Amino acid sequence: MSLNLAIVLETGAASRPEHAAVIADATQGGAGRRLTYRELNELACRCASGLAKAGVRPGDKVAVLLSNEPEFLIAYFGVLKAGACVVPLNTLLKSGEIAAELEDSDSTLLIADEALLSEARSAFARVEACDRLVVVRAGPRNGTQGQAPEECGCDWQELLGNGCPDWDTVQARPDDTAVILYTAGSFGRPKGAELSHFSLFYNAALTCDQLSHTTPDDVSLASLPLFHAFGQTCVMNATLYGGGTLVLLPRFEPDRALQAIERHRVTILVGVPTMYWYLLHYPAAGKYDWSSLRLCCSGAAALPPEMLAEFQQRFGRPIYEGYGLTETSPVASFNPTDRPPVPGSVGRPIYGVEIRLVDEKDRPLRAGQVGEIVIRGHNVMKGYYKRPRPTAEALSGGWFHTGDLGKMDEQGYLHIVGRKKDLIKRGGLNIYPREVEDVLQGHPAVAQAAVVGIADDVMGEEIKAFVVLQQDESIEAEELIEYARSKVAAYKYPRYIEFRTELPKDAAGKVIKRQLRR
Ligand code: AMP
Repeated sequence: MSLNLAIVLETGAASRPEHAAVIADATQGGAGRRLTYRELNELACRCASGLAKAGVRPGDKVAVLLSNEPEFLIAYFGVLKAGACVVPLNTLLKSGEIAAELEDSDSTLLIADEALLSEARSAFARVEACDRLVVVRAGPRNGTQGQAPEECGCDWQELLGNGCPDWDTVQARPDDTAVILYTAGSFGRPKGAELSHFSLFYNAALTCDQLSHTTPDDVSLASLPLFHAFGQTCVMNATLYGGGTLVLLPRFEPDRALQAIERHRVTILVGVPTMYWYLLHYPAAGKYDWSSLRLCCSGAAALPPEMLAEFQQRFGRPIYEGYGLTETSPVASFNPTDRPPVPGSVGRPIYGVEIRLVDEKDRPLRAGQVGEIVIRGHNVMKGYYKRPRPTAEALSGGWFHTGDLGKMDEQGYLHIVGRKKDLIKRGGLNIYPREVEDVLQGHPAVAQAAVVGIADDVMGEEIKAFVVLQQDESIEAEELIEYARSKVAAYKYPRYIEFRTELPKDAAGKVIKRQLRR
């Protein structure tokens, strides 16, 4: 039996070749850059064949550092069609963070956006095993001639030019790894979740068949980053599987999102609560025509019931909330879209996925009891790449341990009540406090740092650091914030710093973060 995730694109290319698959630059005058299913598929074939000519073999890892542009899709499906494994990298990362993921994933080739080149180039230079850098330049995208970058001998246009448009996709086994997605590990260093062709394909298929019911008439706004599991499965792959059209926004900005919704008659909006907050508070929101929107979904962080109610009241549409993790492809549960959503609930397990609440000893709990959420089913990752111990811990007893705390109600709806793991969710993106603490503690003036998430109306949570300075040292909070900002991706540095003479600790000497949060 064989299955390659690229089938979500190939089926559309075979059945509706001239239908628009993707529209980019959607709000900048004109009709935007548009690729049909046939064109997108041919470009992905060229990419696959160009990669093969450049020495990429089935099973190799190819890292992709691209923002929400058609090139992301061409590269993603090109790598898959070549039988290789895609490693999408977060475009907000700094070079040290990129290098760590290139190294850990054993990526041998990096495809990077010219706009991200300074970080990409210095990361690439540090990782010996990654010996080819393909640069996607702004020039050739617009039809002008680009220059081959000195460090790789091959630019994107050359790679595509070397490839042929009728490449025959390398078939994979359903359980082969299609994508490695990095998710910050509880112990600071990000871990690569290995997701199979089948898990990703079926999660996209279920998202489409049971939740969004996407058809070729649908237009989905892709403003979530495609490098993240949520945007990749629930927006990109689910839309292509349903034969719809993707409207790409490089990042979410309320005015651009609203312009794109109006201009392209967007029917499906998938976002994080922070995006809905911005839409609700955007003064000119009423100026735009939203009438095409038929479905709004939220995930990645808790959607406050008040926000759901306010949105419904102002815009006449509910927001359907779901839940999942990178390690679960990502969807695990969702509010059924054929009835009103249950406020404060992340819905029911999707088809073929079991969700249990367990106590400290992994014993199942009854409805109403709070415990750790564990998940079993077709959506669960194969493991963390090259990390047998964390994999065994996460998958102990055959269930994936999420580190989230929840309870199931009598109707079988899941409610998230907190987290067991030390994680901050800012605007839908994950920050593991340990990583920020390590950076702060790397400053010579700092003796100890403890980082926590504090409630924030817009971001859901904001990052705050409690810092104890070395004896006789002094530093301003702003200077320390700047220092952290220069070391980590912009979404990770602390926005607030409070100096303390000591931190509250338990008997074992562990900082009591609960106390700091209060
Ligand atoms: P990620 O791996 O980036 O998708 O992050 C997964 C984490 O996001 C989960 O472990 C939860 O802590 C959080 N999360 C996802 N969806 C929700 C939701 N609907 N409500 C609350 N937290 C969520």
